[in-house]
Amino acid sequence: MIFAGKCRTVKEIAVLEGIGLHTGAKAKVRIRPAESGSGIVFRAKGEEGWVEFPASPKWVLDTRRRVVLGKDGSRVETVEHLLGVCAGLGLTDAVIEVEGPEIPSGDGSGLFIAQALLEAGLKELDDPQPILRVSHRLCSEEGNAWIAIRPADRLRIRYTFVRSGHRIVGLQTATFTDGDDFLSEIAPARTFGFLEEIKDLWSQGLGLGGSLENALVVGPDGYLTEPRFPNELARHKILDIMGDLSLLGSKVIGEIEGYGSGHSLHWRLCQSIRSAAVQEDEG
Ligand SMILES: [Zn+2]
Repeated sequence: MIFAGKCRTVKEIAVLEGIGLHTGAKAKVRIRPAESGSGIVFRAKGEEGWVEFPASPKWVLDTRRRVVLGKDGSRVETVEHLLGVCAGLGLTDAVIEVEGPEIPSGDGSGLFIAQALLEAGLKELDDPQPILRVSHRLCSEEGNAWIAIRPADRLRIRYTFVRSGHRIVGLQTATFTDGDDFLSEIAPARTFGFLEEIKDLWSQGLGLGGSLENALVVGPDGYLTEPRFPNELARHKILDIMGDLSLLGSKVIGEIEGYGSGHSLHWRLCQSIRSAAVQEDEG
């Protein structure tokens, strides 16, 4: 059984406002209805006015700690949670208009985004949701970290978060299978940061909008914010994977397993899936 239905868009415009996790800058996002089959398209200010580009691995500018998309001078930071929520709710077609440099962080999870989309309402469109399958196992790896996909008849994501030697988090695992309740299992899991890394992040110009209000902060001896799940970090990484793989523009069917992986490896897996799919078409 394949859990994929029709294409979906929003009934009304959904609005997100707030500051970005990495830039700390204010932004306003309008998620507008779009035609069936048009996909997720970003609209942002570039060098010469508004620029439109699809959510695609092609327009990825940076994958360090977050995913940045852009074209012709436009730049939208931290798109992954919004895209993960779109994937989780089956929203396939929308124009995401961004005023500001970064998608607002809300509470650091996907929940506030999901609430805004559900308040605007979702509606089914004519076309079936596009689907992408793999015919053999593909893997992206670097050091001890890896992410792989292998053929399966439904989407299943399993993630293992590893922080060897850390007294609190150590190792966490989470699983999401199509048909599970995305809104209660994955959407509430927040982005996280380790206290000992924060100065390093700031020195790279990242995490400037982060606080106890929009991230699960982990200190050497304990959480500084109350976790929502015992494995909140691993659950959040599943949201990241859903967002990162949604750049393919199709629902991916397969069994995905990540171990310590981040956006860069997820992006590389997207490219492998895409070139394998192209090869199959050509073959
Ligand atoms: Zn994230």
